[in-house]
Amino acid sequence: KITVGILALQGAFMEHKFHLQKAIRHASPGSPLDTTKFEIIEVRTQEQLASADALVIPGGESTAISLIAERTGLLEPLRQFVRVDRKPVWGTCAGLILLSDEASRAKKGGQELIGGLHVRCQRNHFGRQTESFVCNLPLPFVGDDEPPFSAVFIRAPIVEKVLTGADATADVTEGVVRAPNLDVDSYKHAQIEVISSLPRTQGKEAGDIVAVRQGNIFGTSFHPELTPDVRLHRWWLQECVLRKK
Ligand code: GLN
Repeated sequence: KITVGILALQGAFMEHKFHLQKAIRHASPGSPLDTTKFEIIEVRTQEQLASADALVIPGGESTAISLIAERTGLLEPLRQFVRVDRKPVWGTCAGLILLSDEASRAKKGGQELIGGLHVRCQRNHFGRQTESFVCNLPLPFVGDDEPPFSAVFIRAPIVEKVLTGADATADVTEGVVRAPNLDVDSYKHAQIEVISSLPRTQGKEAGDIVAVRQGNIFGTSFHPELTPDVRLHRWWLQECVLRKK
């Protein structure tokens, strides 16, 4: 059995829960999701986190999520879960920000990062709430003959830079916050895969990185839980099953 937790401190955690449940319910017969037993739980305490094999960190407000995590004593256990135990974790939007080793346009003092992903993300890259948009994204599991994946961007971050060990030891750039105790050694072996970049859309430059993976950590700029499409949830759950084997 695989217990999948959803960090339920703030933001769109219920929507993720429904999507995960739907992805499991609609698994094709004989597929890894059909043959694996899952339990989906909301995570608000250290005990709940300890019982999870994998975790989703939802979108919402990264400052709020980190503040509540700090006050409830979850911040260090989350760092342990992601960076030491290396269990599968997927951060969407605010979740991606929290999982990054560095974030720019972040509030010093208002923003603690979990870290783990060796990238610097930029908060609110596309502007304010009214600049939200939807576009079709190329994703590895979407074949040419399948319907496109429609991605919702709401005050979304992007990955502005893949960090090197030298970046991680250099002084922190003005306006950037960094997760504590970066493990510089792990930079030597880490492989960051760009899973999707923004296509040319609605007057935006093409090429911004909006989905990345580094080992156990997956991060997306957009909100896949806000459309009826569960294909990304299904893909990630399958990755969790493969990692568990
Ligand atoms: N802009 C938000 C932040 O910085 C993220 C927005 C979202 O998760 N939709 O945390």
